Amino acid sequence: MCQSKIIDFSRQKHVFLVLLAVLITNVTAVNKVFGQDNNSQYKIKRVVIDAGHGGKDPGALGKRYKEKDIVLAIALKLGTYIKEYIDDVEVIYTRKDDSFVDLYKRGDIANKAHADLFISIHANYYSNSRISGTETYVMGLHTNDQNFEVAKKENAAISFEDDYTTRYEGFDPNSSESYIIFSLLQNTYLEQSLDFASLVQNQFKKRVNRVDRGVRQAGFIVLWKTTMPSVLIETGYLSNSGEELFLSSETGQDYIASAIFRAFRDYKQNIEHKSNFSHLNTKEALRFRIQVISSRKQLKPDSRIFKAYEDVKEYKVDNLYKYAVCSTSSYEEVVKKQAEVRKDFKGAFVIAVKGNEIIDLSEALKEIDNQ
Ligand SMILES: [Zn+2]
Repeated sequence: MCQSKIIDFSRQKHVFLVLLAVLITNVTAVNKVFGQDNNSQYKIKRVVIDAGHGGKDPGALGKRYKEKDIVLAIALKLGTYIKEYIDDVEVIYTRKDDSFVDLYKRGDIANKAHADLFISIHANYYSNSRISGTETYVMGLHTNDQNFEVAKKENAAISFEDDYTTRYEGFDPNSSESYIIFSLLQNTYLEQSLDFASLVQNQFKKRVNRVDRGVRQAGFIVLWKTTMPSVLIETGYLSNSGEELFLSSETGQDYIASAIFRAFRDYKQNIEHKSNFSHLNTKEALRFRIQVISSRKQLKPDSRIFKAYEDVKEYKVDNLYKYAVCSTSSYEEVVKKQAEVRKDFKGAFVIAVKGNEIIDLSEALKEIDNQ
């Protein structure tokens, strides 16, 4: 059997086999833990790996190499690692060869497959060739011009598509207004997307010696309509000759794919572990509400985006501001309302709250059943 290499810079090559053994043991241990869990637990079963660009769209151009070829090689390696080391995950690619795939189709593939995570892999370009490093993006409104430039550059892929103005509902990749509503509407999975993005950046920094340019937000069409946590990874700058050399080498691609693989393995473990626990606050009355937005930026409850709603409430969870509308003690009622609210906020979903805290929905439902 042919084993894939899971490697990183921080170790010597001669201890590679030892590491491989440790890794396999760890994966087995993780599987054992998962095996003991009950069936109702949330599991990461399917991942979509999206190699950016392809075919007539080369993406960013280095001096010798094209983004489309580099990211395809990394995507295929990542998929191979996941298939080889994690048994219970299905890997789906948006492309496995040098073909052109419309941006909207990439999200469609993930939605139709009911994927649990969408990973879009890219390489960057900047006019200043000294800039290097990796960035991992989640969908959101850009807070600086640099992030906006990256989103514009990646979204320009739609210009290779036929009839893109009607396809993307009049979205203009160069107009900053186009990005505002567009970015706020897709954030149901912001928290999980941020969690995965941080794991990826940490792996790049600590284990592959990349310059950490951080987790960022911007409006990417390829992430727009995905109905699962999703990230877009910029694996480095092809405008930087050292980084072009690294990313175009087999070893560099192995390092990058291995780092994303480890981030994925940790993310899966964290999510599946987390869903075993919940913290129930018993003093306050249980209410059901509908979460419509979560954002790293604080919004005003009288913001025009909430104009159709009166009872908007903000919940602060870690570094995120979450906004919910409607409030009822009846689960049936809130589910009915959810359908209405989704006309305004496509990704709106039911949450359970006690006082100022959002609590685990499945625990809240158990509590109702016991009443
Ligand atoms: Zn790209």
